[in-house]
Amino acid sequence: MTDLSAPSSASEISRSREGKRLSIIAPCFNEQEVLDLFFNRLEAALDTYGVDYEIVCVNDGSRDHTLAVLLRNLGRNPRIKIIDLARNFGKETALSAGLDATTGDMVVPIDVDLQDPPELIAEFIAAWEAGADVAYGIRIDRSADTLVKRLTAQGFYRAFNTLSDVHLPYNAGDFRLMDRRVVEVLRQLPERNRFMKGLFAWVGFRQIAIPYTRPERAAGTSSWRYWRLWNFALDGITAFSTAPIRIWSYVGLAAAVLAFLCAGVIITRTLLFGRDVPGYPSIMVLLLLSFGVQMLAIGSLGEYVARIYEEVKGRPLYVVMNRYGFG
Ligand code: UDP
Ligand code: MG
Repeated sequence: MTDLSAPSSASEISRSREGKRLSIIAPCFNEQEVLDLFFNRLEAALDTYGVDYEIVCVNDGSRDHTLAVLLRNLGRNPRIKIIDLARNFGKETALSAGLDATTGDMVVPIDVDLQDPPELIAEFIAAWEAGADVAYGIRIDRSADTLVKRLTAQGFYRAFNTLSDVHLPYNAGDFRLMDRRVVEVLRQLPERNRFMKGLFAWVGFRQIAIPYTRPERAAGTSSWRYWRLWNFALDGITAFSTAPIRIWSYVGLAAAVLAFLCAGVIITRTLLFGRDVPGYPSIMVLLLLSFGVQMLAIGSLGEYVARIYEEVKGRPLYVVMNRYGFG
């Protein structure tokens, strides 16, 4: 288990932001409405932190004018850099593309819809100076989310933490500050299934939680629908636990034991009381049940096989069409 508590010896480690560089990673998918607002607030906050910074924006195959808005801002602020992906690869992959391009001593992925308040980065940096390698935001208030989303999220965290050795802190998102060492470890992970929350927890290091209230989206719409969230959850669980396929050996064993017991009962009864023809309903029930269980087992197997296939193909994680502002 990764222990996510504050380092006991934090006071012994003390770092200084002096002369250090902060890299922001901003994944953007159809965000034309909110980007100007985002840069305004982010830059205003960053200017007060006393560090040099770069803002690496990853345009994740947006179908609106996101790229044009990004380029306009790049013309205004040379600290902005743009990675233009060849199509929509999804937020997790966009983050990986961003991680690969950053050069800072501290790296902060942030949503551009202003649901991750840029002002919190001040606390992240303070935690980093005090010795934390990772300072991550914890949403203390999810009232901006619908009840269904909150309940399903809670169910997911519970399932994940029961099944996996890695402990996912409840309500932690991608919004966090990471030390360069942590980023390098993340970049070396070879898997193509980038369930970032899980990978962030998996790496360990000295991690510290910083609570904040998550506001609603400033503009635009969320691109996460339930089907996508469900697949995201499956990716997460299969990437960090093999319990869903291993469990079937035990289910099979239990069924076999049960079948032997039933056989014993039936044989004894037949010997004692003679042949007993009725029993069609119970046979049907057993048949359907075993059929369902087998399909579930094969299905879970398929989930893993499909993911092995994805990994084995070894395609690059993302394709970059253009880079702007990298000099
Ligand atoms: N995002 C992305 N690629 C996608 C979907 C989303 O880069 O395929 C970005 C999006 O632009 C935003 C962040 O990921 O900066 C979070 O997305 P969103 O607000 O839609 O998710 P939610 O806050 O609802 O979880
Ligand atoms: Mg959002």
